[in-house]
Amino acid sequence: MKLCVDAFDIENKNTCAMTVEKPTMCPICHTSFGGDYVSSQFIPTSNSNKGLVYVAYFCSCCSNMFFSKYSKDWNTHGYLLQSFPRKQKDKTFSKHISLLSPNFVKIYNEALQAETEGLTEICGLGYRKSLEFLIKDYLSFQFPDDTNEIEQLPLGKLIKEKIENRNIKILAERCAWLGNDETHYIRKHEDYNVQDLKRFLDSIITYIDSELTVLEALSIDPK
Ligand SMILES: [Zn+2]
Repeated sequence: MKLCVDAFDIENKNTCAMTVEKPTMCPICHTSFGGDYVSSQFIPTSNSNKGLVYVAYFCSCCSNMFFSKYSKDWNTHGYLLQSFPRKQKDKTFSKHISLLSPNFVKIYNEALQAETEGLTEICGLGYRKSLEFLIKDYLSFQFPDDTNEIEQLPLGKLIKEKIENRNIKILAERCAWLGNDETHYIRKHEDYNVQDLKRFLDSIITYIDSELTVLEALSIDPK
């Protein structure tokens, strides 16, 4: 939907009439709507009527303001570039995973937020950290008497010596390798990236979730 605005030109101190495309979604709460127009500012590039337009909107669903940035060409239309601040939709995990490791869920979603914000050089560290919490909480659940040892041991040693499920062991080991690539100066596995790390992590989650679901099923007594 097009919106006619009188943007305040911050260089020339006058207003500049133009049309902009309303965003279709609030970038914070992801409600599908355009937002209520609040104000707009135009920042011209030197001595021209081209430039950037910032339009402020108010979202009545989450009671936040957000900005949309537009590129204005020679004509009077602003082209939507992006809206911010962007808050990613948290990834939801099964009840088993959420109960097993709330810290994993928190760290994973913080890494996801970093990735959404375009912080691609550091989100991998977050996913690597979430892997460590997931594996340690999983093993502590399996071996409650060894919790202190599990908390102290390095992840690689734990994966090698403690994980009994072969598929989880393989995935966790490779996932840790790719995660280490995200933290070190030299990348050892150049054909893989953060998306592969996430794929492996997702598979580990599926296997652990299945194991926990089987345990839940076993707890049902015949009647
Ligand atoms: Zn909102």
